[in-house]
Amino acid sequence: MQTEFFDTHCHFDFEDFDADREELWQKCRAQGVRHMLIPGVAPDQWARMQALCQTHSGIYFAAGLHPCWLQGNITLDAKQLDALKEALRDKSQTAQCVAIGECGLDQYIDGDEALQEAVLESHLEIAQECDKPIILHCRRAHNSLLRCLKRNPVKRGGILHAYSGSREQAEQYWQMGFYLGIGGTISYERANKTRTAVKELPLEALVLETDAPDMPLCGHQGKRNTPLHIPDVARILAELRNQPFELIAQQTTLNAKNLFHIAP
Ligand SMILES: [Zn+2]
Repeated sequence: MQTEFFDTHCHFDFEDFDADREELWQKCRAQGVRHMLIPGVAPDQWARMQALCQTHSGIYFAAGLHPCWLQGNITLDAKQLDALKEALRDKSQTAQCVAIGECGLDQYIDGDEALQEAVLESHLEIAQECDKPIILHCRRAHNSLLRCLKRNPVKRGGILHAYSGSREQAEQYWQMGFYLGIGGTISYERANKTRTAVKELPLEALVLETDAPDMPLCGHQGKRNTPLHIPDVARILAELRNQPFELIAQQTTLNAKNLFHIAP
């Protein structure tokens, strides 16, 4: 059987892929990249993701609101937060929706931290209520995020996407039921801490992702990233961990399928 891969974080609905999406997906399948999760970023994009899932087997989506959509002077009152929760609840019940997110905290962007937390908590509440895993985005806010997760536990866990950081931090997430999303970061030699962490963590804690069209691998800077690079991430991870490429592919794919309740 051909080696199968799961890209657990790819913005395949973005217009960056409009010109060649079908051709690219055929190429992905030919390379064994047969499964993909498209994370939600804004409610006006959910229908488009869902349509993509309905016409492509192996593509799933998550419903969520990315913290980047809360930049600047945006405010949401209690009524609007309730409306967001209602929309998430509705979407989460559709067939191809296998998770809630992406959502989280981002201290790089200029936005209201309290608002980011309130929106994150709404997602956690719905994930718990609807029994779905959650896709987390976090930049420079791990302490706040971990606190938030302790206050709002989610039984299905989820993925900390675009993991970069220390082993201790990764272990805290893993112990709370979160997989670590491993992508292009590990291709950069300067990412010492992350490269050491992914060597030492159990393989059962890792899933692969590209975050395409962003996060190009080392040597491809400035170019559009695509899900075709998933086998490259697996190859780098295999080298770092000194384990067979096949094993990395199989276990990370199985991890993702288990998390999203997709039959093996
Ligand atoms: Zn993303």
